[in-house]
Amino acid sequence: LLQLTRKLIEIRTVLLSIDQSDALKLPSIVVIGSQSSGKSSVLEAIVGHEFLPKGDNMVTRRPIELTLIHTPVNKASSQPSEYGVFPDMPHLGKVTNFSQIQKTLTDLNLSVPAELCVTDEPIHLQIHSPNVPDLTLIDLPGYVQIASMDQPENLRESIANLCEKYIREPNIILAVCAADVDLANSPALRASRRVDPLGNRTIGVVTKMDLVTPQQGAQIIRGEKYPLHLGYVGVVCKVPPKAGGVFSSIRGDSNTTITSQVMKREEEFFGGENARVFGTRDRRGKRLLTGTDTLRRRLMDVLETSMASNLHGITNAVQLELEEANYQFKVQYNDRRITSESYVAETTDALKARFKDYTAQFTKPAVRSKLTNLLEDKVMDILEQLYWTDARAAELTTLGDDRKLATEEDLDSYWRYKLETASSLLTKSGVGRDSTNMVADGLRGLIDSIAQGEPFTFHPEATDRIVDFSHAILRQRMGLTADQVENSIKPFKYEVEIEEREWARGRDRADAKFSEEVKLCDAKLGEIRNRLGGSRRLNGLIKHVSDLEKWEEKRKNKPAPVEGEETTEDPAPVLDAYRYSPAQIIDGRHALLLSNRLALLKMRQQAIRSKRCRVGPDQAAFCPEVFLSVVAEKLAYTSTMFINIELLEQFFYQFPREIDSRILYDLDRDEIKKFALENPKIRQHLELQDRKDKLEQVMRSLQSLANLQQADAPSGDRR
Ligand code: GDP
Repeated sequence: LLQLTRKLIEIRTVLLSIDQSDALKLPSIVVIGSQSSGKSSVLEAIVGHEFLPKGDNMVTRRPIELTLIHTPVNKASSQPSEYGVFPDMPHLGKVTNFSQIQKTLTDLNLSVPAELCVTDEPIHLQIHSPNVPDLTLIDLPGYVQIASMDQPENLRESIANLCEKYIREPNIILAVCAADVDLANSPALRASRRVDPLGNRTIGVVTKMDLVTPQQGAQIIRGEKYPLHLGYVGVVCKVPPKAGGVFSSIRGDSNTTITSQVMKREEEFFGGENARVFGTRDRRGKRLLTGTDTLRRRLMDVLETSMASNLHGITNAVQLELEEANYQFKVQYNDRRITSESYVAETTDALKARFKDYTAQFTKPAVRSKLTNLLEDKVMDILEQLYWTDARAAELTTLGDDRKLATEEDLDSYWRYKLETASSLLTKSGVGRDSTNMVADGLRGLIDSIAQGEPFTFHPEATDRIVDFSHAILRQRMGLTADQVENSIKPFKYEVEIEEREWARGRDRADAKFSEEVKLCDAKLGEIRNRLGGSRRLNGLIKHVSDLEKWEEKRKNKPAPVEGEETTEDPAPVLDAYRYSPAQIIDGRHALLLSNRLALLKMRQQAIRSKRCRVGPDQAAFCPEVFLSVVAEKLAYTSTMFINIELLEQFFYQFPREIDSRILYDLDRDEIKKFALENPKIRQHLELQDRKDKLEQVMRSLQSLANLQQADAPSGDRR
């Protein structure tokens, strides 16, 4: 035996799993008939179980593509021998309870919105059982004879169109008609006659034979009125109801096969007394065909013959599809094969390489220079806080003045003490925390920039993981690093030794920093000047605001008036106030601050540039700016050393290893597949590759079938 049907059904299943063009469709048996003609009863008698949706409310709204797979009983195995599988819903697994199958089918049908009523999106169902033949059957919604009020107007038409689509070649049509309805009124026969006038691929099934006399029944299945080449089969598929009462529920028990009940009833009906009538032959001398079992065998035969005659055509079609797939694979991917695993490996490798490139941003000199900037900003804050607001600040400048070069003795302990305070403030300003944070922020930014690039944009989950674990590494290291940095800079709180070279460098840096600040102040003043419309107006405004502030100051300091005494009030400089809007007054106050600061900056910059400052480190008290700049450099140097050891090196060591352990080795097969499919380019590549492989596999099967068929042919008619 060739088992052609079985093998072709396997092939059909493979073809269904890749998007198949019409040309790749292997013949299937399509069941059509009007509502209540007994379609479901026939199908269930063939399968042996009640499993189709029941009810009045148009329960079949989608085609059900039913693949029956004969599985021999395996007593040794603990596996269930009878079960259904919904290939489109793999999570349901093997469904052994046929009422469950019925419920799922009902739900799937009812998920079609009522106003649509029917759709041509099929439900796929495989039934594995030792009691079924290898068959593919498609159950379609029944033709509507009398439309009821609550159905959409075009329902009849939609169903007819749907059936029309399915009864095309090469499918075999199973036209179900009830014996008690005139065949002339059968929409199934009418539809089939339009596409298959000779009935070469139509089998008539006459149900409800028990509802007419045996003579009438035999007359119908002789098929003289509406001849079909493949003939008619008469059946009685109504399952006799079990004894009522408490036992009636047993009928619904899904796992008792109904085939035997139907067969028993048919044996009684077509045998016995009626055998005389049904044992006759038709006009062509063929025996009349009766019974579900006969129908089953007839279907297998017809399907097998049809498959055999389609073998050549389908082989050609698959060959063409395969050539196209091969061509596309060559053109688009240069025959490069990938797997989900290889993609994951490549992606993680690329990530590591990219990470390594980026780490160049974190060399010691780079970190040091960033840190120096950070500390120099702190220096400016300290200067502002300790010196610029000091009323004696001018004195320091005078002392440092080249023209009356003051001696060491001129400098009282006040200024020495101030310098120590400044230096210790800088050292205690949270350098450990701030510098560690700065570098950690840089690393976070680096990870974010990697995560925002392709291909990670396709993989949100994996990206979250990467971001999470890198942040975790940072969290883990940061406290320790900050402490280490703090410890390492502690000595600078008490003593700072400065060499000539360091002093010279510090002077240059302080000078540059002041120039930068001067520029900033100038720019801000410039903005205000532009808003006001010129220097003259700006100067006017600054003068006004400063008068205003003086007046406010004076008023604030005035003692509270004594009761009974006359108070004289200084007139406020209000007259001018009308010239300025409140917003301009705010601008003015700002400008006053800026111009004061500018004057100070310029004055101090001169001090930095003075001969006295150039003398060297022992002039530190005159030039606190230079001294603090040198301290900042020393702090930056030491901090960088420890940040490098405690944070950067650890992070650069751990990150690639975490990628391996949390991405590469941690994903299971399904997750790897899911990951790969998230990338649309990879998905396309994999899909084409899969299609090509499956077509190749199908092609090999088809060729071996064709060879077998040839070898088999001379031995004569198989049937
Ligand atoms: P469908 O709408 O075409 O699927 O038809 P069903 O299979 O649901 O059958 C419609 C009705 O006819 C049901 O009440 C069945 O019990 C009944 N029926 C089906 N086959 C037979 C049969 O051979 N003899 C009798 N007497 N009734 C049947």
